[in-house]
Amino acid sequence: MNKLAGIYVHIPFCIKKCPYCDFYSITDQSLKQQFVESLIKEMQMAPGYSFLFDTLYFGGGTPSVFKAEDISRIIEKIYSLFNMLADSEITIEVNPGTVAFEQLVEYRSIGINRINIGVQSFQDANLDFLGRIHSSNDADLTIRWARKAGFDNIGIDLIYGIPGQTKKTWLYDLQRAVEFEPEHLSCYMLTYEKGTPLDRERRQGKFKPVAGSLLAELFETTMEYLTTHGYVQYEISNFAKNVSRKSRHNMKYWSFSPYLGFGPSAHSFIEPQRYWNCRSVKKYIENIKEGRLPVEEKEILSKEQRMTEMVYLGLRKTDGIDIDVIDETLGINFCQIFAEKIKQLEEDGYILPIHPKNRCALSRKGMLFLDSIAPVLMIED
Ligand code: SF4
Repeated sequence: MNKLAGIYVHIPFCIKKCPYCDFYSITDQSLKQQFVESLIKEMQMAPGYSFLFDTLYFGGGTPSVFKAEDISRIIEKIYSLFNMLADSEITIEVNPGTVAFEQLVEYRSIGINRINIGVQSFQDANLDFLGRIHSSNDADLTIRWARKAGFDNIGIDLIYGIPGQTKKTWLYDLQRAVEFEPEHLSCYMLTYEKGTPLDRERRQGKFKPVAGSLLAELFETTMEYLTTHGYVQYEISNFAKNVSRKSRHNMKYWSFSPYLGFGPSAHSFIEPQRYWNCRSVKKYIENIKEGRLPVEEKEILSKEQRMTEMVYLGLRKTDGIDIDVIDETLGINFCQIFAEKIKQLEEDGYILPIHPKNRCALSRKGMLFLDSIAPVLMIED
């Protein structure tokens, strides 16, 4: 295995739960210090890995509820336990309303070189709907402070498809984001995850979700606006100022590269095995105290699952599926098996002609139909 690997650290604390979110986090902050101690132990207990790592990502939850000194302890532990490359990308997710300028300066000083800010919208009505704790002004300040603190790799997250949104109001958010010249932009469509309060309210008819036709228009607007403003789309929802500013860490998920996850609910992937930790801070701490890894479940991906993931994840990237890798990993001849289907999809304008480097990628039109196109390019076990 010669692919570079990544490390993900899940910080399971938030100030308040946003009603649309199904990431694991709790709002009770009383277990924070015990969590840090457990996290460090979990890393020490992890089996020795021979990988070289070049990314470390603090996600959550809200990692910025932790002071730089706690994050620094975790980083130091990681460097002492794993083979981290000197020029590793170290990202922290930060939510406006949880950080002050000084904290960002400290984050930069402990070696964090990439910051991802959960802005979601520059309009207070949208932020209220999403149940965010911050205002548009807080978002504005956090971005400015991050730049002033010395971050030259800033990512901004935005959400579209918020009820009441129009093309005009979405363009306003895009324009505000671009004015800050972030190195990276992620634009995610609002989804109604099963079991979330927002999904319950939707079912109860408390608001009217955005129509599918408008969602498609907002997605097309995003691609159009950002690419004409100098951003490279490299994944369905992700845009970078240039190729070197792609999220190196997130690329691992889309490229089937290995990654280790630490913290409650964190997933790890070492082909062909995937395993994940329990979704409870208390249970996580207990497990570690008793000397057990907090792994809840493990699965060995079948050939069919690997195919599904390689196709789905590959098609999310604008450079598409690496056909040579699929053929080699699964022992198939992708172009031969799907010759007819590929021809049809290309004629209908959903995929681009097979790239000379043997890649199969969606067209812009095809990106709107990922969920229907991907199953067409899969085999059964
Ligand atoms: S701040 Fe982020 S992780 Fe926390 S509840 Fe809101 S969306 Fe979820």
